[in-house]
Amino acid sequence: MKILISNDDGFQAPGIVALYQALKDMAEVEVVAPEHNNSAKSNALTLHSPLYVNRAANGFRYVNGTPADCVHIALTGLLGYRPDLVVSGINNGANMGDDTIYSGTVGAAMEGYLFGIPAIAFSQVDKGWQHLDAAARKAREFVLHMKPLIGKQPWLLNVNVPCRPYEQILPTKVCRLGRRHAAEKVITQTSPRGETMYWIGSAGAALDEGEGTDFHAAAQGHVAMTPLKVDLTDHDALKYWGQTVAPTHPA
Ligand code: MN
Repeated sequence: MKILISNDDGFQAPGIVALYQALKDMAEVEVVAPEHNNSAKSNALTLHSPLYVNRAANGFRYVNGTPADCVHIALTGLLGYRPDLVVSGINNGANMGDDTIYSGTVGAAMEGYLFGIPAIAFSQVDKGWQHLDAAARKAREFVLHMKPLIGKQPWLLNVNVPCRPYEQILPTKVCRLGRRHAAEKVITQTSPRGETMYWIGSAGAALDEGEGTDFHAAAQGHVAMTPLKVDLTDHDALKYWGQTVAPTHPA
């Protein structure tokens, strides 16, 4: 088995080092990750400046680009082979509900999925790397569990691991994504030159965190897993818009 690892927190982040250590003896594992923190870069690709790849002392390759750039160039020439699995993370903080839209951790995994490769995004529910060893052990178990499903259809799984000691992490629950409130207010400051600076505020609290959501499962201490799809089509609304915009079958 060949695994490509990436992340959005950057190649030096404790989460990607722990993930590599947890997976390295079960497969041929290569790391291609952003040079700097690229959280919330979603699926962004860098089209207007060149990308450079360098190799760190530990063998990790790092790129002056986004998470999706890393996976994209790895799969389109850098690696020279097609990995069986793309794994992203372990992210510093939750990627639940609407976070998945913005998440670079999910974006890296999604880039693999778009190339037809099974992919998993791992995140720790709280920031700060507490109990990272436990999350890495869970990630290892999760990948081993999924191994028989590799090589058939591509799939994209979003996994959030609660920050607890290993023994206190409850079994994996398969969940739908919850929803968050709109984000917090933008924060303004004045620059040394008198200009107003705007800082994007933090993500909102959970709006839908009911039974069956990732928020609910993770809050109870479960590993929360959501299978994701990429098709943004509102299938339920196709008929309505078909009749409203282009009435081909008048009543
Ligand atoms: Mn991140």
